[in-house]
Amino acid sequence: MTADLSHRGRAANLARMASETFNVAVVGGGIVGAAIARDAALRGLKTALIDKGDFASGTSGKTSRLVHGGLRYLKNGKIRLVRTAVRERDLLLRRAPGLVWPLAFTLPAYRGRGAGPLSLRLGLLLYDALSRDKVLPRRAWLDAASTLAREPQLSPDALRASGRYHDALTDDARLVLAVVRAAADAGAVAANYAEAIDLAKEGGSVVGVHVRPRLVAAEPFLLRAPVVVNAIGVWLTAPYAAGVPARPLRPTKGIHIFVPRDRVGNREAVVLTSPRDGRMLFVLPWGRLALVGTTDTDHRGDLNAPVPEAADVDYLLDAVNATFPFARLARADVVSAYAGLRPLLGSTATRESDVSREHEIFESPDGLLSIAGGKLTTMRAMAEEVVDRVCVRLGRSGPRATREADLGPPPEARERFRALGLDDATAEHLGCRHDPETLARFLSEPRARERVDPELPFVWAEVDAAVEAEMAQTLADVMVRRLGLFYESMDQGRTVAPLVAARIAPRLGWTADRVTEEIRAYGALIDDHRRFREDHGR
Ligand SMILES: Cc1cc2nc3c(=O)[nH]c(=O)nc-3n(C[C@H](O)[C@H](O)[C@H](O)COP(=O)(O)OP(=O)(O)OC[C@H]3O[C@@H](n4cnc5c(N)ncnc54)[C@H](O)[C@@H]3O)c2cc1C
Repeated sequence: MTADLSHRGRAANLARMASETFNVAVVGGGIVGAAIARDAALRGLKTALIDKGDFASGTSGKTSRLVHGGLRYLKNGKIRLVRTAVRERDLLLRRAPGLVWPLAFTLPAYRGRGAGPLSLRLGLLLYDALSRDKVLPRRAWLDAASTLAREPQLSPDALRASGRYHDALTDDARLVLAVVRAAADAGAVAANYAEAIDLAKEGGSVVGVHVRPRLVAAEPFLLRAPVVVNAIGVWLTAPYAAGVPARPLRPTKGIHIFVPRDRVGNREAVVLTSPRDGRMLFVLPWGRLALVGTTDTDHRGDLNAPVPEAADVDYLLDAVNATFPFARLARADVVSAYAGLRPLLGSTATRESDVSREHEIFESPDGLLSIAGGKLTTMRAMAEEVVDRVCVRLGRSGPRATREADLGPPPEARERFRALGLDDATAEHLGCRHDPETLARFLSEPRARERVDPELPFVWAEVDAAVEAEMAQTLADVMVRRLGLFYESMDQGRTVAPLVAARIAPRLGWTADRVTEEIRAYGALIDDHRRFREDHGR
């Protein structure tokens, strides 16, 4: 079944949520909530999924975009965590080949900086050994000359050797959207911009959750379900969750920057060591850009709008400039920057980066489950564990189904886009973002095959699909999470935003005032994410 994820479908879903009774209500449409809804729906449970904002608008859309085991956690002895993540990575490579791609890494060993060759070699040996399926090429150890042949722009000073290994890359927001789509196609009833404001209890048991639809003036309603799952990430510390039993969370902030790749010169992914504190960072290839991350600092500000600060940006720039001496990057070179909050479980560990990445499930006798922690990569395994417990609570025995279920565009998507008459670059781009059957519905619309930004392969059909098949409700939903022009366009999409707003306005029934407001709000979002440039310094 192909679920209707247009704004009409959303309205119909909200009406169903207000009038029907569900087996389970999932609160939070980040990767974890989406994966739980998918798992539950595939087991035949009547499932509702809500998010107070857009799907993937929380941490899940602001990650390093890695589907990985987390090599650096081996240093902290987190073998079990790394083993689970490596195996989930391998599974995603097989089950979601359109969304998750292999990526080669160079891990340089410099004299006097970071870990030495012996511990790096041991780490890589263990990392490979933890993978059961061996879907990725094995590690290799390269001397300095071979390292520089692979990554010629690396600093040769004090370079001893490097490890070469593989992990995987994804577009995090697109991954979440694909999981929401899979959940909905399996029968889950999903709506974004629907906030859980209070738990509903009768006789000491949870009977559902009170929901307030957002964006339009609408009365709150009771979403009825005997089991409620909170997958609200860092918002477990927000007022809605005040009565939710859980260990304290320690939100830590991580920022990323996109910079022109030709300035850095990295061919593939490179692991950096911060010259300031020895932390491990990444520079990843993303088309003509390089993605650099990340930081890890305690966050005490607003949970809803974390932004990159100048000191965070400088920290990343220093790390790139130290390893790629010709880059000479300054703040003005940053194309875009973003910040996300890790929902880490409280710890007395002194360094933020030492706080555990493991997840934890909190269950209370009244029918409430909450989950926090974990990784984008391990979402399927986390969801399976949660839904096992939901089934026990409901006295149901739905067989587990996600391990065998495919996700996202099929492997032959690129060929099918070519067969639809699209050029190679466009077919390549669309093949890792869209199901050809769905996008084909929009390819005969006016200018559908033309580029939105002449420099980038995004086409107008994707804008139409965003609102008609991916539940985009605002201009930012389209620009940030459906297309990604916010990150990749040299002006973050400021120039084309009015054109995009004009295109989606009739589909979403927007008035002229609403169009103006959407363009203003998007401009303000860009400004907030560029404010770091105004700080004194470079
Ligand atoms: C900087 C950074 C980099 C990372 N990089 C990686 C990586 O490369 N690979 C990896 O595997 N992991 C990575 N992670 C970890 C991973 O991103 C997170 O563990 C994961 O995204 C958490 O997902 P979540 O669904 O729990 O939270 P979120 O994505 O934050 O989702 C929670 C959702 O709940 C919604 N919500 C909150 N309150 C309510 C309410 N009252 N009603 C309705 N909805 C509500 C929010 O709007 C939000 O969308 C990274 C994390 C950070 C911060």
